[in-house]
Amino acid sequence: MIRFESVTKRYADGTTAVDNLSLEVPRGGITVLVGPSGCGKTTSLRMINRMVEPTSGRILLDGDDVSERPAAQLRRSIGYVIQHAGLFPHRTVLANVMTVPRLLGWDRGRARTAAMEALEKVGLTADQARRYPAQLSGGQQQRVGVARALASGPELVLMDEPFSAVDPIVRGDLQEEVRRLQRELGITVVLVTHDIDEALTLGDQVAVMRHGGHLAQFAPPAELLAEPEDDFVAGFVGKDRGYRALGFARPDLPLREEATVQLGQPVVAGAGWVLVADGGGAPLGWVDVNGWGGPVPEGRLHRLGTLAEVDASARTLLDAALSSPSGRGVVVDDGRVVGTVTADEVLAATLRARSGES
Ligand code: ADP
Ligand code: MG
Repeated sequence: MIRFESVTKRYADGTTAVDNLSLEVPRGGITVLVGPSGCGKTTSLRMINRMVEPTSGRILLDGDDVSERPAAQLRRSIGYVIQHAGLFPHRTVLANVMTVPRLLGWDRGRARTAAMEALEKVGLTADQARRYPAQLSGGQQQRVGVARALASGPELVLMDEPFSAVDPIVRGDLQEEVRRLQRELGITVVLVTHDIDEALTLGDQVAVMRHGGHLAQFAPPAELLAEPEDDFVAGFVGKDRGYRALGFARPDLPLREEATVQLGQPVVAGAGWVLVADGGGAPLGWVDVNGWGGPVPEGRLHRLGTLAEVDASARTLLDAALSSPSGRGVVVDDGRVVGTVTADEVLAATLRARSGES
């Protein structure tokens, strides 16, 4: 969808912000540009919608050189989200989101409907739409920024450090939201971040950039973790890349059958750890059946560990096993227990899958 062809940007003061960048961003999905501050991410992003013009090389959008498109028209056809939302403080949230549709010449009614729909998509209410940006939290303002970028229904949305200024919990929610919107709307997202965790969580493919605007590696997250091309990438993806890679491994492993009991039902003394579930099969906790027997009292329940979905990554399955008092991680489907796994089993299956691949 977007093709950088030997693109270089040298600013007037002689700074080379981007150096001979060649990169192909596929249609659909999320492509992340990640790298340390000052490595040319923002410059690269802004050359796509011509907020910055390349010094040499060219950028093709669906095969057409963007420099041949009128800059203002190009910009309106592409969604753009920045760090502090960049909202107009003296306009209501709704008016902010209506900006691009109005610039596109849509009449008020149509622009308003599109804006309300976009706000709803990002989880904001009609009441919030009437407020001014300062009357919303930082995270909500970022949602407005996303809604504004989506309101006119662009196929391509550029995001520059959209979540860097919000706290980690809100950031996690917003990341999930963007992932969901990307899938639902089938749009293409190019997202810039300096945060490698965000890049690996969100990116279908990740371009790691280094100082001087050089592309160090362009690959899906699992590949960056498994085969960093050089020391810079290896250092940037982090020391614990072996653990992180577990987040992308989906080992095929047979689940253990796990018999469950309900509260008040009898257990036989010496049964060891027994999983307790409700009548619908939802797990409630573990009981350690040692030196006693009889009906299971609520007071004896130990906390469940992390629950893993059937399609969970090796990381989540391992976490489920390690956080479970019994050492058996509970796997659920639609909230109901379907079996358990041990840490040994998860690791063995992960290693098997890996040796099978190579
Ligand atoms: P990033 O987004 O990765 O932090 P930028 O693309 O903003 O990096 O900047 C890349 C380099 O270009 C940096 O050295 C920065 O100081 C420089 N730069 C950015 N904008 C300008 C500008 N308008 N004029 C001169 N230098 C700039
Ligand atoms: Mg930047």
